[in-house]
Order: sequence, then structure tokens, then C-alpha cells
Amino acid sequence: MLSVNKILEKGDFDKQAILVLLNSTGNERQLLFEKAKETKAKYVGRKVYLRGLIEYSNYCAKNCLYCGIRAGNSRYVRYQMTDEEVLEAAEFAWKNRYASIVIQSGERTGETFAATIENLLHKITAKTGGALHVTLSLGEQSEETYLRWYAAGAHRYLLRIEVSNPLLYQKLHPVDKFHDYQARMEALKCLKRIGFQVGTGVMIGLPFQTMADLADDLLFFREFDIDMAGMGPYIEHEHTPLFQYSRELLPLRDRFDLALKMVAILRIMMKDINIAATTAMQTIDGQGREKALLVGANVIMPNLTPVKYRQDYLLYENKPCIDEEAEECKSCLEARIHMAGDEIAYGEWGDSKHFKNRTTE
Ligand code: SAH
Ligand code: SF4
Repeated sequence: MLSVNKILEKGDFDKQAILVLLNSTGNERQLLFEKAKETKAKYVGRKVYLRGLIEYSNYCAKNCLYCGIRAGNSRYVRYQMTDEEVLEAAEFAWKNRYASIVIQSGERTGETFAATIENLLHKITAKTGGALHVTLSLGEQSEETYLRWYAAGAHRYLLRIEVSNPLLYQKLHPVDKFHDYQARMEALKCLKRIGFQVGTGVMIGLPFQTMADLADDLLFFREFDIDMAGMGPYIEHEHTPLFQYSRELLPLRDRFDLALKMVAILRIMMKDINIAATTAMQTIDGQGREKALLVGANVIMPNLTPVKYRQDYLLYENKPCIDEEAEECKSCLEARIHMAGDEIAYGEWGDSKHFKNRTTE
């Protein structure tokens, strides 16, 4: 079996090599992290791009078995932010030179939803003179809807594949035509065809998931040639069907450690993409996002959702910062990022370098 040292030296990451890296411990694990840190510094710089996260609505038509805001969970008060609230959050981001926001929500389709988002995009452009870049994370939509949103000014889209193994996907979703692996894949391809910078990702430490699945996830990202990645540990939620398997899960610490390794390996495999240090990582470890920055992540998404809605957007339990206003989050975050030795790229859009490289070739 190849040693971690040899694998990093050769830089040839096939499934076998990735498995060795995912299983590394002690000094070998440290070597992996050092290499990822160097790679980040060399290819994307020690800069962190901020995306203000707006959790627009928790209405969701879907029933993913792992998610707290699934349609079947009647415990949350369902909300949708008003246009004014979204514009206020967008203005906060713009004035604080975040340069970019992400609008995320439960999945809904139909003309009313498509038109509302389209309209909002126009309003955001008008309010900020087009200075604020908008990323959408609104699930699977028709090509027509994606085209409309693209034309209205959204140029990045986040849609996680969740798991790249179709059989595992089926175990984590209801088996019906609304939760179809192929449809997910088609949506990702469609986004790419239209010209979006495409971000995808997976959850780590799910029930039934193996190390081989995680290695395949990384290979899938390379094969699909993604521009951005957002990966985080799976965190169980009591009021979801998947909760019944909680006893079979890896301890949270191990899930966190695996997530760090996934970030580090992906940074070395895909040197110029954007990788998010996700909130789920911070949920397990108070310094989780900073630790992710040290092993290759370069994007952080501070939460700009009005505090009154946050307790109703709990995809998983123990989500952090649900009682902190955006202003408090901002100063806390700055200090943390400096501690990690990175610098916040204020006022920079921070487009995926990979996207630029692949579209100008
Ligand atoms: N509805 C949209 C966006 C909101 S969900 C969508 O599904 O794409 C955003 C992400 O939250 C999902 O992609 C999923 O990866 C993550 N998520 C949901 N439940 C989770 C859980 N229990 N633990 C960790 N991440 C979770
Ligand atoms: Fe809805 Fe997204 Fe949660 Fe699935 S993961 S239930 S689509 S919010």
C-alpha cells in the first residue's frame, strides 16, 4: 500500500489513494493537511470570500429523510421573508462589502415562486447597482426557470448531489419521482449548460455511507468538473425519519474529522475551485470553519437571515448563531478569520477561478 507521503508526492489521486488519505491518522494526516494548506496558498491565495446567507423560506415541497425542514415535519412555523427583508439583508451585505449573497430556501416550484425570485433578483440589482453578486440555492427547477433566474442576474448556483452513489441516494430519500437521482444529475448538467458557476457537495457521515462512497464523491466532483464545493458533516435531527439510525453513526468528532479530510483532499485534487467552510462544521466544533480554512476552504457564508426566522430554519440540530444579529456575527467572524491567518477579501466577488479557467480555455 502506498504511503501518504508517496501519494502526495505523486499527486495521482485514484480511488485507492483517496481511501488511504481518508484513513490517515497522526503525522500522515498532518502531512495531508499541510499539503492542502500549501495548495490553497499557491492556487487561490490565503483569502476568504464572504457570501451573506439569506435563508429565504422554509416552505419545502420535498421530504428528504435527513432534513429538519422537510414537508413532513409539522413542528416548524413556515415562513417566507418579505421582499423588503431580503433587500435589507442584501443591503447589509453590500454596505459591509461582502460583495456577494446566497439566497437559499426549501424547494418549491411553480410560476409564482419562479416569478417572485426573478423579481427579487431585479430588485437586488437595482438597489446595489449590480455590485452585489447573487448565488441561488433553491433546489431542482425546470430549465426555463433556471434560464429566467440567470437572465435576471444570478450567476452561481449551489445544488448538492448529497451523495454520488445512486443506491445510497435512494435510501436517503423517499422513493418517488420527486426525489430522483437522475433528475438531480440532470439539474446539475442543466445549470452548467446555461453557464452558471456550479457548486455541489455531499453530506459526510450519513447512515449506510462507506469510505468508498466518500472517495467516489470526490472522484465525482473531479469528473463533473465542479466550480464550487460545499460539504459538511451530516447532523441528525430528531424529527426526521433518518434519526432512527443515529446509533449506527460515527461519533460527531469523527464525522467532523472526515469532513476536514474531504476538504483537504478536494483542495489538492481541484486546486482552483472555491470550497466553503460550512456551518455544519461549526456546529460540531466551535472553531470548525477556521479549521476548514486551514486545510483548504476559502469561502464562508455568514448568516444574514433575520433572527426571528432562524429557529425555524433548522435543517439539523444545534445550528450555531441562531440568536446573533448579522452585525455581531461580522465582528466575531473577522477576528476568527484573522486568527486562522487568512485575510477577508472585502469587496471582491471571488468568482471561482476554476470557472474562469475552464471557460476561457
Ligand atoms: N432545498 C435546497 C436548499 C436547502 S437545503 C436543497 O435541498 O438544495 C441545503 C442543504 O442542507 C442540503 O443540500 C443538505 O446537504 C443540507 N442538509 C439538510 N439536512 C441536513 C442534515 N441533517 N445534516 C447536515 N446537512 C443537512
Ligand atoms: Fe427540502 Fe432541501 Fe431539506 Fe430536501 S434538503 S427537505 S429539498 S430543504
